[in-house]
Amino acid sequence: MDPNLIKLIAALLWAVIVGLLANRKNRNPIGWGIVGALSWLIALVVLAFMPYLCPKCKQKISNKDAKAGVCQNCVNVEQNEVIS
Ligand SMILES: [Zn+2]
Repeated sequence: MDPNLIKLIAALLWAVIVGLLANRKNRNPIGWGIVGALSWLIALVVLAFMPYLCPKCKQKISNKDAKAGVCQNCVNVEQNEVIS
């Protein structure tokens, strides 16, 4: 096989892997996919250490909150709305 073709397939594979992880963390999958295709493992490691983002308010949330599907910011906002 053409070595350039192998490189292209590997880059696409990394784009998909990094894109999926970015999507799971509520980050831009296309932007991260491009970074992943260019930097391979580096993008994956950097992304792995980045915090999850809330899908609603885009604030950083802890891994525990992300797994539970709650965001402390949004919970507080909702409570304030109920009170006021
Ligand atoms: Zn939120």
